[in-house]
Amino acid sequence: MPAKRDYYEVLGIPKNATDEEIKRAFRKLAFKYHPDHNRDDTAGEKFKEANEAYEVLSDPDKRVAYDRFGHGDTEGLFGRGFEGFNFGGFGDIFDTFFGGVASTAHRGPQRGADLSYNTIITFEEAAFGCKREIDILRTGNCSLCQGTGCKPGTKPNRCPSCNGSGQVHRVQQSIFGHFTNIATCSQCHGEGRIITEPCPRCRGTGKEKHECRISVRIPAGVNNGTQIRLSGEGHAGDRGGSPGDLYISLTVKQHEAFTRDGDDTLYELPINFAQAALGAEVDVPTLDGKITIKVSAGSQTGQVFRLKNKGIPHLHRRGRGDQLVTLNVVTPDSLTKKQRQLFEELAKTLGPAEKYS
Ligand SMILES: [Zn+2]
Ligand SMILES: [Zn+2]
Repeated sequence: MPAKRDYYEVLGIPKNATDEEIKRAFRKLAFKYHPDHNRDDTAGEKFKEANEAYEVLSDPDKRVAYDRFGHGDTEGLFGRGFEGFNFGGFGDIFDTFFGGVASTAHRGPQRGADLSYNTIITFEEAAFGCKREIDILRTGNCSLCQGTGCKPGTKPNRCPSCNGSGQVHRVQQSIFGHFTNIATCSQCHGEGRIITEPCPRCRGTGKEKHECRISVRIPAGVNNGTQIRLSGEGHAGDRGGSPGDLYISLTVKQHEAFTRDGDDTLYELPINFAQAALGAEVDVPTLDGKITIKVSAGSQTGQVFRLKNKGIPHLHRRGRGDQLVTLNVVTPDSLTKKQRQLFEELAKTLGPAEKYS
């Protein structure tokens, strides 16, 4: 470590400087070297150095000690050196100066973490809804200590460092006078209490993983990728915080006959050459069972029938989509001898294919 510069030299003031001069010199340097104003690599170090010098020279007792003993002995005298400020971020230091109180949040209740699971359902289950039992593993209260973390029959003790508040207050000196630094108690981590005899099951955490079976009602109209949120079914919270949520993501299996477009189901209906030419009544599967549709004479591939309200129910609202049936005229790829003769006869009577209107 390089030798420490003299604090008076750091602040650029004479040995007999008044409190007012010390304050003014520090304020000037603090603004000059504050990393928000000064991008120079050494600015942070200089800022820290000025701050440390100010910490000592602005405190009458420390200044006297420093004048008499210099660097080494002042650190010895004050035991823990000049920790003064927490140099986690310079922005914070300035907030501290101007805000008056350095705040560190008290560790209050903390919400539990969310959980997510995936489940696979059929096309029909997605359309009409279903119930699912899902086995999950989540953190809950320890079954032996009921979440206290203490060995049964024992109680936690009040933390002696913070007297149960979970916070320690430290009065510090700044250019604007004293301010109070509130920090989370390091002995109890803000809990305010200390477990002296931890529960043997959870080792004092108060938590344990539980396997649970959750019953989920999946509403009609969900789709692939839909997430269902079960409020409060996630991991347990800390210090009385509410539990997290459970998210169930749905994967919908493909259907062998239907595909889906929004809330419409799509179905391709194969018909043969004769049905297309002569017209026919044909059975069509729907989500509600078979229905018969009438294909008129002269139907073409690509022609679409719309079966109203035979599609997927809308999610969380009334009504359903439609089923769209698309005709596909299938040309036979093998013919019996008899069929071949008939086609040949037919061919003589048909002219070349025209564009039908
Ligand atoms: Zn326990
Ligand atoms: Zn404490």
